[in-house]
Formats: sequence, C-alpha cells, structure tokens
Amino acid sequence: MNIIAENLSKIQAEILQAEQQFSRRPGSVKLLAVSKGQDVEKINSAIAAGHYCFGENYVQEAVTKITTLQNDKLEWHFIGAIQSNKTKLIAENFQWVQSVTSKKIAERLNAQRLNNLPPLNVCIEVNVSEESSKSGVKLTEIVTLANLIQDLPRLHLRGLMAIPEPTLDVVKQRKNFRELHQIFLQLQADGFTVDTLSMGMSQDFIAAIAEGSTLVRVGTAIFGSRHQ
Ligand SMILES: *Cc1c(COP(=O)(O)O)cnc(C)c1O
Repeated sequence: MNIIAENLSKIQAEILQAEQQFSRRPGSVKLLAVSKGQDVEKINSAIAAGHYCFGENYVQEAVTKITTLQNDKLEWHFIGAIQSNKTKLIAENFQWVQSVTSKKIAERLNAQRLNNLPPLNVCIEVNVSEESSKSGVKLTEIVTLANLIQDLPRLHLRGLMAIPEPTLDVVKQRKNFRELHQIFLQLQADGFTVDTLSMGMSQDFIAAIAEGSTLVRVGTAIFGSRHQ
C-alpha cells in the first residue's frame, strides 16, 4: 500500500473513532482531501485508494487538475478566497464552493452556473474568530447572506465553513468550533435546510468532530507538505 492510501485509511479510522468517542453517528463526518499544492500523481494515488472528494484553493491550478483527471466520479470543492473574475471558472468546474463570503460573489456564481449542471452546492464562510485579517462573513451578516443564497435558483445552500485561528490548544479549538456549531443549529432552527458544517483540518479535526463537524478538510496529514 502506498503512503497516501495508508494516510487515508489512518485518518478514516481516526474519524470513525472520534465519531464513537463523541457520540456522533458513524459515517456522519465526511473527509475532504485538500489537494492544493499537490501533484496530480498524488491525487491519482488517493483515487486508486477509493477516495473521490478533493478540495482546492487556487482556481487555475484546480482547473488544470480537473481537466487532466477527467473523472465524473470526482467531487471538487472550492475552498479558497474567491476573486470575482474567477467565478465563471469556479461555477463551471466545481460541484461545491465552501468559501462564499458576499452577495456579489453569490450572484455571479448563480448567473454563471451552467443550466445543464445541477445547482452549485455552497457554504458560507464564517469569520468565527472575528479578526479583521481573516476572511469570512461576520456573525451578524450570516442570515442576510443565507436568505439571499436561498433565493438564487442555481445555488444550493448547504451550510457553513470556517477556518478558526490555528492553535494546538484543544480547549481553544473546541471553543471556536462550538461557537460555529451553535450558529449552525440556529440557522436550522430558523428554518434553513442546511446539512453541512465544514470545520476541522489536519491539526484540529478531532476537536471539530467533537463539536459537530460534518465535513473535515484534511491536506497535509494525507498528502504531506505542499509546494506553492
Ligand atoms: C489548506 C486548507 C486546508 C487543509 O489544511 P491542512 O492543514 O493541510 O490539513 C483546509 N481548509 C482550507 C480552507 C485550506 O485552505
């Protein structure tokens, strides 16, 4: 077995163990393999190991990979910052966009999503630590953006994504994730049919699962360190 297949099965086992430990339904946490900065050969190793969901941050790099791999089984998630001149390529090539942070970007993605494709799955990226340097919408702006996205026919609002400030302190990790989970539950209580809470990366996905994550985005723990 190659190293990427080994890493994938190790992480899947850790996810399963965390689901049990924190009373989460088995299989309720999905693994997104973050392949930004990684070669196509590594993605192919993951595909050979039966993994089909990949996350990318840079549009041009991602479109090259998607075109090279040409595989209908693959599910591509855009998770990076979105420039408005890149929305067309994103809308045409991805199944998911987790990093929607404005009305303008949402409207462009909606207008540019091709009619022969199903609606684009989207998450709102939330600035959970409320730092000005971080991307993501403020807590007070989530409901307005969620309402807007729900009215756009070519987008399907699926939930929330966040990248809290990195820390190795598990108590702090869990505090930020808990806060996001509360917001997610409030959206559901307000009648939004959201099912995806995307939080947790290589360093903190166990804490994220403890606090209700349904999708963890893991890069280096699967593929090793990346080149830019
Ligand atoms: C790079 C990245 C990841 C993966 O980070 P790792 O620490 O390599 O697991 C997850 N989510 C987002 C939004 C990223 O940009």
